[in-house]
Amino acid sequence: MQAAGQNSALVDNFGRTVNYVRISVTDRCDFRCVYCMDEEMQFVPRAKLLSLEEISTIVRAFADLGVVKVRITGGEPLIRRNIIKLFRDIGRLEALNELTLTTNGSQLPKLAGELKDAGVKRINISLDSLDPVKFKRLTRVGDLSKVLAGIDAALATGFEKIKINSVILKNRNDDEILDLVRFAGERGMDISFIEEMPLGVIGDHDRLEAYYPSDAIKSDLEERYTLIPTTESTGGPSRYFKIVETNTRVGFISPHSHNFCDNCNRVRLTCEGRLLLCLGQEHSVDLRRVVRTYPGDMDKLKQAIRASMSIKPKGHEFDLSAKPVIFRHMNMTGG
Ligand code: SAM
Ligand code: SF4
Repeated sequence: MQAAGQNSALVDNFGRTVNYVRISVTDRCDFRCVYCMDEEMQFVPRAKLLSLEEISTIVRAFADLGVVKVRITGGEPLIRRNIIKLFRDIGRLEALNELTLTTNGSQLPKLAGELKDAGVKRINISLDSLDPVKFKRLTRVGDLSKVLAGIDAALATGFEKIKINSVILKNRNDDEILDLVRFAGERGMDISFIEEMPLGVIGDHDRLEAYYPSDAIKSDLEERYTLIPTTESTGGPSRYFKIVETNTRVGFISPHSHNFCDNCNRVRLTCEGRLLLCLGQEHSVDLRRVVRTYPGDMDKLKQAIRASMSIKPKGHEFDLSAKPVIFRHMNMTGG
């Protein structure tokens, strides 16, 4: 095992190599999904957000340290002003194999073409309901027709892969699992179901009551389809199955029912520049301080990133029945 901090590869104390960074480029969003944000959110003051240039610099440092995959997320990344410039800057880095995006889809009619031109090949689009009324209830303010138009725009643009992400909540949208899978399959898209994670306190939303485990989703699907496990792994938390009848690939991200921490290959950068070593823990390093104290000093930045490996925790300890211990919402962290 490589000792952290001595070599260019990022390896933590548990022997896991980090080669993937997810970046929340803004905590703001045009939706207010009930599991993600509180109705009344306090957003980070703009001066505290990393600038697009600071994000580019940090990504360059990561690429020098062996990171090959970057996902841009948020909040809603596509509502950040001039965001395409960031995609273009990162898209030019030769060391990166993959530049990806997670979006709610609302801005894709406007931006899909520019994203593809900037080098984005695969995107994830979040969609929890195909019913406009339920969609509005889940997102509080979202307009389903805009997201469907975004999906159409992405399909027409011809990305290599488009995946739908759905969070299923008991008694809210668990009756739509089959419809969502059919919707994705008919359009040649994969779909992943994500178990809700207890990030941040949300006044009127009871996460335990809403919990709908991956195994229940799988059983619902097996009433109609044959699912066979695929051996393929993205090095990430998803377990994938193929639906024999439709050839659709279905993923399950199951932090509660199938913990995935042993193979963790990623870290996250919050919109304020905190490098979070685990989604479900608070161990972090303030990279904004490093880039603002030592502007242009790549060595200092790389040193801070290498050193962070020694505090990457073994795993999360999500517990829906306990009081929340992580007060940061998913929009800060970047899902
Ligand atoms: N706004 C974009 C979107 O919705 O795709 C990107 C950011 S969003 C935080 C990324 C993903 O995290 C979405 O698929 C969303 O459904 C998921 N998400 C948000 N809060 C979550 C939570 N508490 N538990 C599990 N997934 C969550
Ligand atoms: Fe916005 Fe995405 Fe959070 Fe929904 S999940 S509120 S779209 S950041």
